[in-house]
Amino acid sequence: MILTGLMQNKPLLISGLLRHAATYHPDVEIVSCLHGGEMRRSNWATVARRAGRVAARLGELGLAPGDRVATLAWNTDRHLELYYAVAGTGAVLHTVNPRLFPEQIAYIINHAADGIVFFDLDFAELVVRLAPQLTTVHRFVALCRPDQLPALDLPGLVSYETLVDEGRDDYDWPEFDENAASSMCYTSGTTGNPKGVLYSHRSTLLHSFAACAADGLALTARDCVLLAVPMFHVNAWGVPYAAAMCGARLVLPGSGLGGDRLFAHLRDEGCTLSLGVPTVWLGLFQYLEQAGASVDASALRLQRVVIGGSAAPRAIIEKFERLLGVFVIQAWGMTETSPLATIANLLPKHDGAPLEARFAVQSRQGRAIFGVEVGVFDADGRRLPHDGKSVGEIRVRGPWVLSGYYGNPPDSALDDDGWFSTGDVAFIDADGYVQITDRSKDVIKSGGEWISSIDLENAAMGHPQVREAAVIGVPHSRWQERPLLIVVPKPDAVIDRAGLLDFLAARVARWWLPDDVVFVDDLPHTATGKLLKTRLRDDFRGYRLPTDTD
Ligand code: ADP
Repeated sequence: MILTGLMQNKPLLISGLLRHAATYHPDVEIVSCLHGGEMRRSNWATVARRAGRVAARLGELGLAPGDRVATLAWNTDRHLELYYAVAGTGAVLHTVNPRLFPEQIAYIINHAADGIVFFDLDFAELVVRLAPQLTTVHRFVALCRPDQLPALDLPGLVSYETLVDEGRDDYDWPEFDENAASSMCYTSGTTGNPKGVLYSHRSTLLHSFAACAADGLALTARDCVLLAVPMFHVNAWGVPYAAAMCGARLVLPGSGLGGDRLFAHLRDEGCTLSLGVPTVWLGLFQYLEQAGASVDASALRLQRVVIGGSAAPRAIIEKFERLLGVFVIQAWGMTETSPLATIANLLPKHDGAPLEARFAVQSRQGRAIFGVEVGVFDADGRRLPHDGKSVGEIRVRGPWVLSGYYGNPPDSALDDDGWFSTGDVAFIDADGYVQITDRSKDVIKSGGEWISSIDLENAAMGHPQVREAAVIGVPHSRWQERPLLIVVPKPDAVIDRAGLLDFLAARVARWWLPDDVVFVDDLPHTATGKLLKTRLRDDFRGYRLPTDTD
């Protein structure tokens, strides 16, 4: 018979994170960039006090445990306060991605049955336009002071600062089951309708421990973090919670993610760590290249940059290291995995490795962190070995991996062994590093073999004249599909098809070489900054490759 342990069964609650940060790191700053570039300086004690006041006031206004509350908001201290205020009461914070199509925003707010919408003034017009379709929303809160509140025709409209002013200081964070839902995010729905992922207090806290672990993101009280991943993108990768756990300083850039703004924050606030999707970093390096000698990169204290959301191009990893002395940590995950699942930290065997070898390791998506089991499976559901070559679909399981989508029963998204299928295609090497080769719907199937669009994109992005690259499979009468490379050249680039193919020929297998190259001014992206391959495939439907002569 199992003997039950005699340890305290204290629930893991998000309010506990805030209480901890306010007690042990009260003066640690939370810096927010406002419109016009002005910086507002708060700290963990103030965030905790104001979150408590908002929680108290929301309770008086009828917010009940389990109720859903939406935000359409940038990265600011107010949004951070809402992360804690809403979840801390037992209600659920639904961070909505304002870059989605308006119809998708209406769909997910209705699907989640959100009762209150908090919005930044930038989204006032959008909210007014959507309001008649939002069947469950009874109150709108504008994230501003009362004197900034525009006269909008919205039910129950009030300013956020009014809620703070009306709240009490003696709010007692309630204690409840750690499995209670705390926040929710919808997948961006690049195929079909968006689906809701419902995180719990327990999953969020366990995920925070992983973010703080030395072989996780190693977030500590000595870090100043520039959060360049939006707080509406999978809980900003968990950093708003993990930062409270360890007492890190946060710099929240508001809506400005341009290279110039990011560089200024990194420099002026002395940031040691930053996180963002590859496109954000492309913007930073474009700014640095254009600004040239007029910026002093040696003024940065930046040590680490976490890149995820899409494959980190090797060219970016190299630039961070060689130009800025910054170590890139690639991480892989998805909305359904909270998101951290694998992290590309180094092992002792890489000590003293030549830079080139180290870049190769950093270009992989990383090793499973404790808490997430990661396996690669073939089409028949057999688990494949970690041999660096057996390619299959990644499945994951663990306490911060989804079990069923919102509205569906628990475990309904899992197979009989409890695995969640990610739709990502990868191999795992002998050291356990995962290498994503594609999303299953993006992989190029050529003559019975698979070509990795990510590898080709990565190689093309290594060309000094290429700003961004995408590769899609185009039907081919002989090979079934062949790769088409679509390139955005840098401004003033001198680059042609033959030169680019020569460059690639030295870097990828011969039969992987794209059958054609197209130059464009821009590539379509999803609301979370990934290449929108569905659109590219539509745009190039019917495209005839020069090699397709049948
Ligand atoms: P959505 O699936 O709605 O676009 P997510 O943010 O959940 O939004 O995206 C998760 C997907 O992003 C993963 O399944 C994977 O395809 C891709 N991804 C995330 N991180 C990486 C990475 N480091 N390398 C390659 N692909 C990544």
